[in-house]
Amino acid sequence: MKFTFLGTGTSHGIPMIGCSCRVCTSADPKNRRRRCSLYVIAAGQHLIFDTPPDFRDQVLSFGVERVDAVFLTHPHADHIFGFDDVRRFSTLQGAHIPVFGSPETIRLMRQKFEYVDKPSYGFESVPRVHFTEQTGPVTVGEAGITPLPVWHGTDTIYGFRIDADGKRIGYIPDCSRIPDDTLALLTGMDVMILDGLRPDPHPTHFCIEQCVEQLGRIGAAKSYITHLTHCSEHTELQERLGTTVCVPWDGQNVEL
Ligand SMILES: [Zn+2]
Ligand SMILES: [Zn+2]
Ligand SMILES: [Zn+2]
Repeated sequence: MKFTFLGTGTSHGIPMIGCSCRVCTSADPKNRRRRCSLYVIAAGQHLIFDTPPDFRDQVLSFGVERVDAVFLTHPHADHIFGFDDVRRFSTLQGAHIPVFGSPETIRLMRQKFEYVDKPSYGFESVPRVHFTEQTGPVTVGEAGITPLPVWHGTDTIYGFRIDADGKRIGYIPDCSRIPDDTLALLTGMDVMILDGLRPDPHPTHFCIEQCVEQLGRIGAAKSYITHLTHCSEHTELQERLGTTVCVPWDGQNVEL
């Protein structure tokens, strides 16, 4: 299994519009963070987790080759508003692409993208997808994808566990509390990627300290923090977290 961080930033992205702080103006490309998305190649299947507003740039910058399925964590703007660009893949692949999410996420996707898969000028002009409500594990080829219900403020949304090639990855980009039932699904993790927004507490996200604590409970072989704000300078945060938690950067490839 291998994966690429397509985006590791919070909803504003970094640099943030109209901000001249030292992180937003940093020359280090690791301080440029697009909105959160993950590209996983599992058992030969190319899987995308969220299609943020930066999706086109992410695909072009980091070499997304094809898309066999899309999984959506939740319908917040920073996670879905690049969805239209999935149409290049349905055109190139000449096929409908399955799109999975919770029943509520799929309901809102049908509303926000009401033109998708409707008759139009041609196959190329709209994404051709199969919206699919996911309430339990699904398989794409030989890869297994299990939803991980978590609290994001007062909403229950999804993270996902990916099982393939004898490896196990967990991805929860937005989260303020992990219920016990979900924690029970996070055993034997090779990789865990978790929301750790900023140093200060936040009503809908784990702060850095809470993220590190939760990653410690999960005890994956390798742990990553994501959904970062301009409060965190890449190198400084990595030095602060030491070897226990890795700070990823956009375009970082990891092979298991
Ligand atoms: Zn800034
Ligand atoms: Zn969110
Ligand atoms: Zn988010």
